[in-house]
Amino acid sequence: MLRIYNTLTKITEEIKPITPGRISMYTCGPTVYRYAHIGNLRTYLMADWIRRVLTADGCAVYHIKNITDVGHMRQELVEAGGDKMIMAALEEGKTIQEIGEFYADCFWRDERQINILPAHVFPWASQHIPEMLEMVGTLIDKGAAYEAGGNIYFDVNSYPEYGKLSNNFGGDLLEGVRAEADPLKRDPRDFTLWKAAEPGRDVKWDSPWGEGFPGWHIECSAMAHKYLGEQFDIHTGGVDNVFPHHEDEIAQSEGTFGARHVNYWVHGQHLLADGAKMAKSAGNVFLIDDLAARGFDPLAFRYLCMTVRYRHRMNFTFTSLRAAEKALTGLRNRVWHWQNAPQDDTAHLDDRSVVEEWRNRFWDAVHNDLDLPRGLAITWDMVSSHLPPGDKLELILDFDRVFGLNLDDVPAQYEVGPDTAELVARRAALRRQAAFAAADALRADAVSGGLVIEDTGEDTRVRPQTSLEQQEARWSSVSASREVPSLLAEPDLYDYSFLINAYDYVDDVRRCVTAILNHTGDASAEVIVVDNGSTDGTAEYLEEATQEHPNLKVIHCDHVVGDAAGKNIGIKQARGRYIVVMDASTEVVGDILTPVSESLSDETVGVFGPYGLTTDDMQHFHEEVEQGDADAMQAYCMAFRRADLSAVGLMHESFRFYRNLDIDYCFQFKNAGFRIVCDSKLPLVRHEHRQWEELDENQRNELSRKNFGRFLKRWGNRPDLLINPAARGFETGFRH
Ligand code: AMP
Ligand code: ZN
Repeated sequence: MLRIYNTLTKITEEIKPITPGRISMYTCGPTVYRYAHIGNLRTYLMADWIRRVLTADGCAVYHIKNITDVGHMRQELVEAGGDKMIMAALEEGKTIQEIGEFYADCFWRDERQINILPAHVFPWASQHIPEMLEMVGTLIDKGAAYEAGGNIYFDVNSYPEYGKLSNNFGGDLLEGVRAEADPLKRDPRDFTLWKAAEPGRDVKWDSPWGEGFPGWHIECSAMAHKYLGEQFDIHTGGVDNVFPHHEDEIAQSEGTFGARHVNYWVHGQHLLADGAKMAKSAGNVFLIDDLAARGFDPLAFRYLCMTVRYRHRMNFTFTSLRAAEKALTGLRNRVWHWQNAPQDDTAHLDDRSVVEEWRNRFWDAVHNDLDLPRGLAITWDMVSSHLPPGDKLELILDFDRVFGLNLDDVPAQYEVGPDTAELVARRAALRRQAAFAAADALRADAVSGGLVIEDTGEDTRVRPQTSLEQQEARWSSVSASREVPSLLAEPDLYDYSFLINAYDYVDDVRRCVTAILNHTGDASAEVIVVDNGSTDGTAEYLEEATQEHPNLKVIHCDHVVGDAAGKNIGIKQARGRYIVVMDASTEVVGDILTPVSESLSDETVGVFGPYGLTTDDMQHFHEEVEQGDADAMQAYCMAFRRADLSAVGLMHESFRFYRNLDIDYCFQFKNAGFRIVCDSKLPLVRHEHRQWEELDENQRNELSRKNFGRFLKRWGNRPDLLINPAARGFETGFRH
């Protein structure tokens, strides 16, 4: 039977069902006014694996996963200025119900794509308001809740065990309480069960205390009670749910029913992406569809999540996803092979104890706090063992009851046309005649026709390329800046390297590239475009353009690696004496080579360009210099010497969004003793900057603020680097 770490008792315990042979399980489900990202899905995968192991242990698991669709939603959105998409949907007259249904459908599709077993019930919060009100009423009757100003609060002091789940007692607790002090609360730890509707709110319900909407936590208490009873076995969620959500749920439910609410609380650690917390502003929130759009099999994500234990943070990268997909394809190949091996008396060992030993090793691993990485390692050992194919097949299909990789479904994915048998036979004949070169040529033909020929021992098989393999056959790509070697120590090959960091907007990229090529003529120049995870045809355009222009180079990133990382990739690969960083929104309309080389022939100048900035206070930067020294240069066009970079360094890759990165980089030049010099007369046109235009006000503010924080942290106490710090009164008045 499964043993699992219980957040409540802080030990790993064997699961003992309340009713023998049955497990009742509740999973905090999706919020349906946005997409579920792969981090959310990691948490749902954890619940799915728990359910599968318990099912394999012979339990009938009854699984509830709520849909959070009410309450704080409208308010939260309004306060955040509104998600662009939702606000647009609301303006179009879509109801919150319709929006919820849209995102719930997306969620269910995602779950299906990664083979998460559907919950038996997906209760919607908005359809359980009476159940919530009933609980709130009981809590008031029992003296565990009170009314103040139309709101109902849970009285934490009525529940002495408050804090037992999160170990959040006293002082720590206050820090966990996010909202600023609510004067209506008797104790700052008290939390809202019901909130009075503010004027203008349209998502609201009648209650004995007037119109309002439920607090977030009460929904899970009420729905868990309705579907699973006063007590149930397992409750899952992500670590961020431990406090306050689950702590409050325990207080409400135990306050209402007077009995232990849940026996086993299980929490999954978070998924990071490219080493950082997934956040819209960091541009590293990925959806299953994003992975599929890049050619990945969604089940590769499922496999990837099995390589890290659920209680550890997991860092998602495309490199690791690629490795996961390769491993998954490898397993499928094996299964295919074993299935097609003769199932005669050589297919199974007579001595069953060897087979049972493998089986036991595997189940011991997964029973031990869901140790799937160990389970996978045992699987691969088994795969390469000397067991006969029938036994291997039997074991792997047994293991797959937990993995959920659909390994019994492999042949369907591997159907190929009738002509392939002929191709295999032809190649086999060639190999028998030791005509290996001809046999290899046949394989290459097959690959270009979208097929893969694999030799497994005696056997040869043909399968269609996976979509990832098709993508990779088109061009190679990198997943991170560190995968790209630095050529900075190599000698110059050109006078100029133009760098463009391309994020979609193929028309802008084409205009920018074409203009540079037109105005570099016979000069010794190269143009390097970093395709920063484009998905709109920019990559295809660039591939074509490189055929025509030998000095145009493209480096594809398999996802958006971020602005600084993309620019660094270009800088590291540049071989020109002068590097000119250009934005795709700009267009060169005359000779900029001469002014660049003339300005940079002055050794005191570090950065040169047309759009200089100055500041009085390090807070506000103004584009007011026409000619001469500036505090920073905007990255629409900034030129510098490659030779100086050993002193200046590369850009800081924590800047995933472009804003303020240029300022930050200029301060690196200033810190190395160089000047920033501007000439607004450079022959350039600035077009609409679509990367910026597509963001709404909130996103702009959020992204800019974060990056400005990064800049201030590094340079805020260096007013000495400004063009004229004394004249600007910095010695005494500087604040940040
Ligand atoms: P939400 O839709 O925000 O309520 O989140 C749904 C589930 O995903 C909750 O159980 C969260 O704890 C969990 N979750 C949120 N962010 C992450 C993340 N980065 N990695 C893993 N799980 C997460
Ligand atoms: Zn919940």
